Amino acid sequence: MTTTQILADRRAHIHEKGTAPFNIACEKQSVAGSVSQRACVFCGSRVVLYPIADALHVIHGPIGCAAYTWDIRGAWSSGPQLHRMSFSTDLQEKDVVFGGEKKLYQALVELIEHYRPKAAFIYSTCIVGLIGDDVEAICRRVSAETGVETIPVHSEGFKGSKKDGYTAACNALDQLVGTGDTTGISPLSINILGDFNIAGETWVIKDYYKKMGVDVVATITGDGRVDDIRRCHGAALNVVQCSGSMTQLAMKMKQEYGIPIIRVSYFGIEDMSKALYDVAEYLNDKTVMKNTQNLVRDEVSNLVPQLRKYKHDLQGKRAAVYTGGAFKALSMIRSLRTLGMKTVIAGSQTGNKQDYKRLQELSDEGTVILDDTNPLELAKFLEEKKADLLIGGVKERPIAYKLGLGFCDHNHERKIGLAGFEGMLNFAKEVHGTVTSPVWKLASLRDRLVDRHRLLDGDRSRNGNRFVEGGNAS
Ligand code: SF4
Repeated sequence: MTTTQILADRRAHIHEKGTAPFNIACEKQSVAGSVSQRACVFCGSRVVLYPIADALHVIHGPIGCAAYTWDIRGAWSSGPQLHRMSFSTDLQEKDVVFGGEKKLYQALVELIEHYRPKAAFIYSTCIVGLIGDDVEAICRRVSAETGVETIPVHSEGFKGSKKDGYTAACNALDQLVGTGDTTGISPLSINILGDFNIAGETWVIKDYYKKMGVDVVATITGDGRVDDIRRCHGAALNVVQCSGSMTQLAMKMKQEYGIPIIRVSYFGIEDMSKALYDVAEYLNDKTVMKNTQNLVRDEVSNLVPQLRKYKHDLQGKRAAVYTGGAFKALSMIRSLRTLGMKTVIAGSQTGNKQDYKRLQELSDEGTVILDDTNPLELAKFLEEKKADLLIGGVKERPIAYKLGLGFCDHNHERKIGLAGFEGMLNFAKEVHGTVTSPVWKLASLRDRLVDRHRLLDGDRSRNGNRFVEGGNAS
């Protein structure tokens, strides 16, 4: 049992393996006052739809919402760059009083005439939900007048968490799926769902499938194109990576078009190889299987010797992993083991019961599993478990640096591709560089402890008796 102090209401969301039966609380609203790392509904829908490069993305709301998600993913496009323009209706006080529908209509007509996009996504923000603009009606009118499909995304920020934004995005995508011609699609074909082409990762994965002899009909949404999504219902299989964001769309396609689903991860040697073999096995084609065996053999035999020098220095180091969905954390733990490292903390913003069960089965005794943690809690566990490295996103980076730990960005802001076999080498280099950096020796332990005690004292005075010792779901 840990001696770290946590908020009493957070206790059920934390489990330390080996100290109690596993029954972690998850998929719940964040605890009030806990300063969750989760993003809002609008942000959730933006991160999913943003990489569709030939669509117009218009944020109906204050400019702050647009700024918050401006160029939000490092999602690269091989062609159009329209997705990188973050258009906003910039709602002001007057619009809040008298309504923003006219402004939205005028903005859409002007933008569509200028850019002639393949489709347009219109995101509702908190204030639009409050004032009750009929975004759906405006979209219908603009679609009819311009001939460009204009799709409302019901993503009012306050109505849930990032995960509800994934639902809003899947509902919007569902309006496109099934509207294109599927003539000529090969029976050896798939859709890639839940890969967002961060630093070109989708291209790496597409290249593997090409070498296997498998056609990719649509990438949803990394380097995405509207016309590909319209005809993706002609593919033989949906291969889902970021399951939190894309399972809903895959399930709808299964119901409506009978397309089966497999869940994969493209991170780490084991999971990357398994993903390719699972696809080959499903497609049940001798040539595809042979190509897959050759591909995996060549890639792994090239990669493993290069990892040895990093493993030598990283052996026995301790890592903490905090991701958006919990499925990715499983790949991280395996990849860290490949590098000789031990995971002492593993958590996610939006994991479900099944994900966390698998996470704790894979973890070593004593690993702390966190659902929807907050910066203070995470900082305390990082110190208590003596982590050398934190893997997370942009919001976790300052926590690591303030504590004098190495940090690896595994979220959508990163600039280095970490997927695939070549991504595993990049991951090893990045982890090695940050963990062995001499800069951490210059961060005084005393200063860190003083800061930590200030943090704790401040929090105790603000939160009264809301803290309890340790944390375990009971
Ligand atoms: S919470 Fe509301 S106001 Fe804030 S970014 Fe999200 S939609 Fe905009």
